[in-house]
Amino acid sequence: MHELAITEQIAEIAIRHGEKNHAQKVTDLYLVIGELSTVIDDSVRFYWDLITDQTICKGAKLHFNRVPAIFLCLDCEKEYRLSEGDLTPCPHCGSTRMEVRQGKEFYLESINIT
Ligand SMILES: [Zn+2]
Repeated sequence: MHELAITEQIAEIAIRHGEKNHAQKVTDLYLVIGELSTVIDDSVRFYWDLITDQTICKGAKLHFNRVPAIFLCLDCEKEYRLSEGDLTPCPHCGSTRMEVRQGKEFYLESINIT
């Protein structure tokens, strides 16, 4: 259910930004969502319509820009991508010690207003 809280935060930012810039309407929101993020975009869209119904964000389109997961191997210090959505050992040395470099993020990148 954390999509509700996240969507409320996004709406709040978009409304504040729109009002500050004397916008008639917020038309588009560009969101970055990591491959490992647990945020479900359909849930965000669902809450978005509910939350923004009486606001300048009503009808704004949500664009999700998906970024791939990238891991750093802690043994050989090479970076590698996730393949087929599964956690795999390092393809260079077979190590399972890794840290996530990219892929867990979820944030608002930009907004279009009119
Ligand atoms: Zn490695």
